[in-house]
Amino acid sequence: MRINIGGLLANRAFLSPDLVACVDDDCRYTFREVNQRANRFAHYLSAMGLCAGDRIAVLSRNREAVTTALFGAAKIGVVTVLLNWRLTAPELDYILGDCGARLLLYESCFGETVSGIRTSGNLEFFVSANGASPDEDFSQVLEKSSTAEPAHLGGGADPAIIMYTSGTTGKPKGAVISHDNVFWASIGLTHTLRWAHKDRYLLVAPLFHIGGLAPIFANVHVGCTTYYMAEFHPGKVWETLVLEKIQFLMTVPLMLQAMLMLPGIEKLDLSTFRHFICGGSPVLRSLIEKYRDLGLRVVQVYGATEYTGAITFWTEDMGLERASTAGKPIFHGAVKAIEPGSGREVPPGEVGELCLYGPQVFSGYWQNPEATRDALLNGAYRSGDLGTVDEEGFVTVVDRLKDMIISGGENIYPAEVEAVLSRMPQVQEVAVVGRPDATWGEVPVAHVVTRPGQSLTKEEVVDFCRKHLAGFKCVKDVVFTESLPKNATGKILKQALRQEGKGEAFHD
Ligand code: ATP
Repeated sequence: MRINIGGLLANRAFLSPDLVACVDDDCRYTFREVNQRANRFAHYLSAMGLCAGDRIAVLSRNREAVTTALFGAAKIGVVTVLLNWRLTAPELDYILGDCGARLLLYESCFGETVSGIRTSGNLEFFVSANGASPDEDFSQVLEKSSTAEPAHLGGGADPAIIMYTSGTTGKPKGAVISHDNVFWASIGLTHTLRWAHKDRYLLVAPLFHIGGLAPIFANVHVGCTTYYMAEFHPGKVWETLVLEKIQFLMTVPLMLQAMLMLPGIEKLDLSTFRHFICGGSPVLRSLIEKYRDLGLRVVQVYGATEYTGAITFWTEDMGLERASTAGKPIFHGAVKAIEPGSGREVPPGEVGELCLYGPQVFSGYWQNPEATRDALLNGAYRSGDLGTVDEEGFVTVVDRLKDMIISGGENIYPAEVEAVLSRMPQVQEVAVVGRPDATWGEVPVAHVVTRPGQSLTKEEVVDFCRKHLAGFKCVKDVVFTESLPKNATGKILKQALRQEGKGEAFHD
């Protein structure tokens, strides 16, 4: 039997029909009901002439309709493309053209954006959800169709989902994720973090990122209730954790930082809460410790879209002294540090490119064999991250390969310089990038956001660097800015900073 992720929802509905599957603002559905809704959507798609292998796209915040549609489409082999709702119409236009989606399901609040992409690519059908719109309405579409289980088409290694990279390194690429990839990602999460039947999960990370999406499948896997939060609001997260007795949620460091700022959090009753899962960018040990002081656990996860999410976890039982690592790989995965160029594994503790192995490795990029070839190495995903694997198998992410600065033949890891500069009390945020230089090839430059009311000079920043780092790693220039460009998960868009720096004269 081939795994079909829509089929897994049907199995869960068979096993736990009356268990609440999801709670959204204005609705609450059991697994039986969600499965019936997914079936209805599958029949609707078939009636519209969509066949296995066709693509639909979804433009929505975190809503039950997104995942219901995805499961329904998967049942008949139709592939779902999750769109980042922060993108502009021209950016969406590119993606819709690239993937050739025939139908767009969108949340009504994005009606204006949708009017700008109506003629994109192969789009023929528009379905809106959660509000008034001139297009077909999701609820009405479902009402018209049958709840009968459709014949499942496709599965296994067939594509189920396409997630577009944020395009920080060029045009966005569609990472194709198969039914099997999703199945194994669910095993990885539920097995490692002991997801349990009837647990309650808060979905707050965006569904168009793998960190937001993968837990949905894990929840179907074991039978957990998902609470949908359309968008992140720190206060609303704390409130929901308490009111709904949530056990866990996926976050990024930026969210956990913002949540710490709220007053009174130490008084909240979180006795049923288990842990925050946090990843997407390095999770500082100090952040983990701040939550620990509140009596709350943070699990660190390292992963990538092309790996269908998580590859390593750091959990408290691995010891706080290991909290600055990304932990160890999941049971069915492996990480090796490979010397870029030779492809040989480097000795324990030495820096290499982290290659990720196992059944979660994606199939490749949508209609982009060249990028796929570059991303895969003997079946492993080349993460583009530099890192180490120590004698015991603990993985540490050092930096992105593409962010590494080579200055006068020496390697500089911006993350190391950033870690030093973020210790300056006046520094709120800092990003270090390379700037082309006639003498050294590249030199490190710091982009700094100072804390409100604090002032700092270029000389103070450079002096601080000199005190704590070897000369070649010291930043040679400082750009003070009000904010750093970031993507939806709070990752700093270093490519934008590099572009900004190009053409600027080098000061010393
Ligand atoms: P793009 O869309 O431009 O490819 P991206 O590479 O950030 O962006 P994602 O798949 O969202 O795409 O993120 C994966 C990357 O995030 C990893 O390769 C790694 O660089 C970083 N990352 C994820 N988790 C961690 C972590 N715990 N520690 C350090 N880095 C992390």
